Amino acid sequence: MKISVIGAGTMGNGIAHVFAQNGNQVSLIDISEKALEKALAQIAKNLDRQIKKELITEADKTKALDNISTYTTIAEGVKEAELVVEAATENESIKLKIFEEIDAQAPSEAILASNTSSISITKIASVTKRPEQVIGMHFMNPVPVMKLVEVISGYLTTDKTTQKIIDISKSIGKVPVAANDYPGFVANRILMPMINEAIYSLYNGVAGVEEIDTIMKLGMAHPMGPLQLADFIGLDVCLSIMKVLYEGLGNDKYAPCPLLVNMVTAGQMGIKSGNGFYNWSHGTKELIVASQFK
Ligand code: NAD
Repeated sequence: MKISVIGAGTMGNGIAHVFAQNGNQVSLIDISEKALEKALAQIAKNLDRQIKKELITEADKTKALDNISTYTTIAEGVKEAELVVEAATENESIKLKIFEEIDAQAPSEAILASNTSSISITKIASVTKRPEQVIGMHFMNPVPVMKLVEVISGYLTTDKTTQKIIDISKSIGKVPVAANDYPGFVANRILMPMINEAIYSLYNGVAGVEEIDTIMKLGMAHPMGPLQLADFIGLDVCLSIMKVLYEGLGNDKYAPCPLLVNMVTAGQMGIKSGNGFYNWSHGTKELIVASQFK
């Protein structure tokens, strides 16, 4: 199939990788030439990791990389697409603009999917002339490793479109699971309040960072604690998803913890800023003195 992936960041490079590795022709599009270069280097590195684990051969790597072309404009990159997967920055106005443009430039039969974590699929679809062919295709990070694709039908998405995306997801080795278009869908509606509650537990002095993470890791068999996971996801991303839940569902139980708001305002975003619930600035996870969280 001909697949266009818009946005070559963390998720876009993983999505391009998986489609290319499974024999699809991928057009990877980003406004930033540098992001495209970085994405190709990352894909090559991740393919090398799969070779080391004996999951693929050197020839598979070459084939996968040959399947990817890069573009800096949507017009050029989507003109032959059968499916467009948008994985650009999580910002509603950016995404609405991108979808208007894809709708104008992509073939009329093409399905338009978004990898958004929290923006309404119905809203995204509303700026196109083909809302029945617009859908959420929510991959998990890291895309080459994680099996799940949350498939989100907007209000006007047809069953035919949903079925097509389920089939395509299976063809690239993923496990698609269908959900309807309500704030946070399923994954983030459940995950984010858990992370927010962990932050409340720290804020209320119930326990410290290490204790909260250890309790959830050992007690619930989670691979990492919720505070460390928040550092991985980015505290700004966690806050923006909590705001979507709070505003979209109109329930106080989704109110973002004031400590989370303060930390984001202070620029403590987690791994990407070097500091969050842990200190990451030396390349490893270090504990921060408890008095810091006030
Ligand atoms: P990122 O910041 O790593 O990458 C976004 C890329 O989009 C950047 O390279 C940027 O240059 C590009 N971009 C911005 N505007 C563009 C435009 N108009 N045209 C083309 N490219 C443009 O972001 P990310 O973490 O990869 O997230 C991408 C999407 O995936 C978001 O919607 C996010 O919510 C979703 N998502 C992220 C994760 C995660 O763990 N990071 C998990 C699931 C879903």
